Amino acid sequence: MSRVYFIKSREDDNDDKLALRLRDALDSLSLMDFIQERDMVAIKTHFGETPKSGYPRPVFLKTLGDLARERKAQPFMTETSTLYKGQRNNAAIHTEHALSQGFGFENTGMAIVMADGLFGDEETEVSVNGRIYESVKIASLFAKCQSFICLSHFTGHILAGFGAALKNMGMGCASRRGKMVQHSTAKPSVKQKKCTSCGQCVKWCPVEAISMSAEGAVIDQDKCIGCGECLAVCRFDAVSYNWGATYEELQKKVTEHAMGVYNLHEKSSIYINLLTRISKDCDCMTGYEELCSDIGIVISSDPVAADAASLDLVEKKLGKKLSEAGHDIPYRIQMEYAREIGFGDPDYELIEI
Ligand code: SF4
Ligand code: SF4
Repeated sequence: MSRVYFIKSREDDNDDKLALRLRDALDSLSLMDFIQERDMVAIKTHFGETPKSGYPRPVFLKTLGDLARERKAQPFMTETSTLYKGQRNNAAIHTEHALSQGFGFENTGMAIVMADGLFGDEETEVSVNGRIYESVKIASLFAKCQSFICLSHFTGHILAGFGAALKNMGMGCASRRGKMVQHSTAKPSVKQKKCTSCGQCVKWCPVEAISMSAEGAVIDQDKCIGCGECLAVCRFDAVSYNWGATYEELQKKVTEHAMGVYNLHEKSSIYINLLTRISKDCDCMTGYEELCSDIGIVISSDPVAADAASLDLVEKKLGKKLSEAGHDIPYRIQMEYAREIGFGDPDYELIEI
């Protein structure tokens, strides 16, 4: 059974106060002692799609970076390119976007080093011996750094059910090819009766798999990589997925990729989930729909336990299942599958601090 530490939000908490409490907890419990002098410390986060979404704010990065520096290590913030077009699909524009979101040196005390190179193609094959993959394609920086801090924001998710540490590692630390193989089972189609020919899906498809016909949008199934972007941008419910085949396989693939990242840093990592600004959809989306009020911060050296505890805390706060409050899809597969493949431990001991 893994230990999960819980910092409960107080009514008068704000990001600065919570970050201070996070610092005290990590220090007093010696949870950062895996960091050695001169380690390159990668702090994986999400810079958010818009200033409104619930991504971890710069003060949390500053806190973690300071703790690493006090151990005479070299911390930096890191992320990977997205599959979909937008502000984060190569290292140059992603870095500019992060700076515009407030993640400059003046607020964080650290540089940003993208983990998968300029175009998301710098990767390392990591052995997992899973049921789906023998090895997974992880952004190469995660194999090169000595210490790994995974700072995740808990959200609902349209395909994964929810996103926290496992999603941040599995999809968020994968190279472009690693992301593509995870999405490749989900191929959507367009219900032409509902399609208004607005063209939004054509604009956002990362691989130009959608064209317009006289009847509306048409998806070329051979070109489609199953990224789900067309589903997210269609306002007319005209894009449908074969969900049954989708969630389960995608969540299992995410879990095996997360295991790859964990295998690189089993003894040199920590997983911190922020349960604040909890939204129905992930931080890649431009909209923000609050699911419930702030809960706090969860910390563990086991990402599976961290996610299991986070999910239970969210459901306790909601007073109902996540699928009743967010997207009505299976959402516990990541943890159940982790148990099956011997990755981490979804049974946890919650210690409130
Ligand atoms: S976004 Fe939706 S409505 Fe617009 S063209 Fe695409 S499928 Fe049709
Ligand atoms: S058609 Fe396929 S590749 Fe294009 S946006 Fe939709 S899911 Fe992604």
